[in-house]
Amino acid sequence: MTSYLLERAWVDGAVRDDVLVEIEGGRFARVSPADRRNPTGDAATLRGLTIPGLANDHSHAFHRALRGRTQRERGTFWTWREQMYAVAEQLTPDSYFALARATYREMAASGYTSVSEFHYLHDPEPAMGDALRAAAAEAGIAITLLDTCYLSSGFGAPPEGVQLRWSDGTAERWAERVGDGPAAIHSVRAVPRDQLRVFRGRAPLHVHLSEQVAENEACLAAYGVTPTRLLHDEGLLGPGTTVVHATHLTDEDVDLLGSTGTNACITPTTERDLADGIGPARRLVAAGCRISIGSDSHAVIDPFEELRGLEMDERLATQVRGHWSAAELLAIGAGGQIAVGERADLVTIGTTGPRTAGTGADENTAVFAATAADVTHVVASGRVVATRDDHEEIGRELDEALSTLWGRAP
Ligand SMILES: [Zn+2]
Repeated sequence: MTSYLLERAWVDGAVRDDVLVEIEGGRFARVSPADRRNPTGDAATLRGLTIPGLANDHSHAFHRALRGRTQRERGTFWTWREQMYAVAEQLTPDSYFALARATYREMAASGYTSVSEFHYLHDPEPAMGDALRAAAAEAGIAITLLDTCYLSSGFGAPPEGVQLRWSDGTAERWAERVGDGPAAIHSVRAVPRDQLRVFRGRAPLHVHLSEQVAENEACLAAYGVTPTRLLHDEGLLGPGTTVVHATHLTDEDVDLLGSTGTNACITPTTERDLADGIGPARRLVAAGCRISIGSDSHAVIDPFEELRGLEMDERLATQVRGHWSAAELLAIGAGGQIAVGERADLVTIGTTGPRTAGTGADENTAVFAATAADVTHVVASGRVVATRDDHEEIGRELDEALSTLWGRAP
């Protein structure tokens, strides 16, 4: 049994002072008001504001190698993609393990306690996937490895270059290899329409959707329907499906996603980095979708930046404030709750630092003031996986993994 006294904590949708949590077998066994007059035994005190662990619903771990380096030339989404392929080409199971472990440690230190890894670099299989699972285990965060089907470089075009390493040839062969596990379709560009039925009934199922206008135009030219309509007509939308980005949608697309209860993962820091555009997140929720966040290309890894990005992007697009409350945004970001029976994931934010002091130490501090650098203590499944003291070491680990990858001395 481990116990913590939380100075302030987000419990049942409100900030409360002095919460005692007891953890057994990686889950909360008891969550109760602490009595300050009675000592709480050996409970360690977590000073600051503690929130539930945050869930990163969309990641490509190897994209961490591109941070900073892809900003040197102006470029487009498509030139960025060429640079991304150049990194992918070099990766081996060993170098991917080192990079992914460091990246997942950065995630843990930033407040993410779980990750959905959208994995399409499956060559040589299964070594690359095993490397990712091992990396997450060592970093201490939970991983859902979404084995991703990638068969074509565009509508009706065969895979080319490094994409050949990712292709199983057909969706049937992909399914034979993957079995019943979590799955992803890279995009409607990457899997021909006549093979999409293979994915019917699978959950969780993730798919990149309408990130770029060019994808919509090509889909309309190839099939006469939008990517959303295509997924709907192939029976692939529903509560077990997560569409990633959902940026350029028609009104009908929003209705189809909402009426089927599909989850939409929005990745604001990637979408702004890649000049994708601003998706209709608020309208998707009004239509019936659930929303999650992801750090995707890891242009930054900062869950607070993703959450406030949802609100700030809407403000810029509409010139109106107050689309989301901080409480709503925290609920979107949290993987669970600080409640009995839930996985014992805790993220403590320092509330006396330069960015957060004097901001009220409440949900608005978490969403509108804090950054990943303000996270002081992270517990995942009852285990401490990162503290502020780890930041320098994680930086060194990233530097080493990336120096090796880019062929430079550390
Ligand atoms: Zn992605």
